[in-house]
Amino acid sequence: AKELGRDNFQFYAPEFNSKTQEKFLLQEELRDALARAEFTLLYQPQVDLRTGHVFTVEALIRWNHPSLGLISPMKFIPMAEETGLIVPIGDWVLHEACRQNKAWQDAGLPPMVVCVNVSARQFKENNLISRVVNALTDSGLEAKYLELEVTESLIMQNIEAAVATMNELQGLGVQISIDDFGTGYSSLSALKTFPVARLKIDKSFIKDLAADENDQAVASAVISLGQKLNLRVIAEGVETDEQIAFLRKNNCDEMQGYHFSMPVLAVEIVQLLNKNNAI
Ligand code: C2E
Ligand code: CA
Ligand code: CA
Ligand code: CA
Repeated sequence: AKELGRDNFQFYAPEFNSKTQEKFLLQEELRDALARAEFTLLYQPQVDLRTGHVFTVEALIRWNHPSLGLISPMKFIPMAEETGLIVPIGDWVLHEACRQNKAWQDAGLPPMVVCVNVSARQFKENNLISRVVNALTDSGLEAKYLELEVTESLIMQNIEAAVATMNELQGLGVQISIDDFGTGYSSLSALKTFPVARLKIDKSFIKDLAADENDQAVASAVISLGQKLNLRVIAEGVETDEQIAFLRKNNCDEMQGYHFSMPVLAVEIVQLLNKNNAI
């Protein structure tokens, strides 16, 4: 077959549909993206529903691709999970979020907590704890100003192992919240053994909150569950006044969403805080 030459490639080309090809190319480039410093973090404020103050920001990664522009984490995080690249990328996120949070404090802002998303593969790595310790040591950030967001479905994959890891993190003084809560069917008896500070109501329940009675039932159940277990509850994906009214009426603690702010650059967080916390 070799002597058929280069043109023969075209014969096989249709086997690679454009989606597969695109994915393959992106994977190759994802390998180099860290070294080329193509990642950035945006920060989205989380607002206390009673006082309107911001005490926490969530770090959200963006890939600034040289020719394709900004690529959503929904596209490349699953890819990074598959290839294992999530470990070095996640490590970069941890370091950068801690460094930025310490820089805000050094600039005289009131201390905030920065939340970092941790993916399944990263969470299950046996050296997660030492990676977290390194990020804290390198940045000089106190552990209590770092919070890790772990999804409910990740915890449910292996509750015992997850609780053991979460206990170690808590031992360091790092806080933990459960992301996408309501989508992973935790049993109530399991939930009370989780060393977590907050539940994040998944944005799929918030989207149609004003009109959908099922979503209202889920949201209010999660809020009262949080109150009973002494956990703070935050709603994500909050975009409208109607959603806020419902959350306030049901005593939800905090919210995050476009209504208050999109994820923004670190410099814009300073401006937002000056305006909102009246410092
Ligand atoms: P997530 O952790 O559930 O983050 C919330 C997502 O909702 C973010 O999307 C955020 O920009 C978006 N969002 C915020 N407010 C609103 C709103 O009012 N309406 C709507 N419709 N959406 C809103 P983003 O930044 O595209 O991130 C998507 C997902 O990618 C995240 O979902 C998280 O699972 C993952 N991700 C982002 N950054 C990281 C990271 O550094 N590490 C890991 N492992 N995963 C990350
Ligand atoms: Ca999150
Ligand atoms: Ca979420
Ligand atoms: Ca509470």
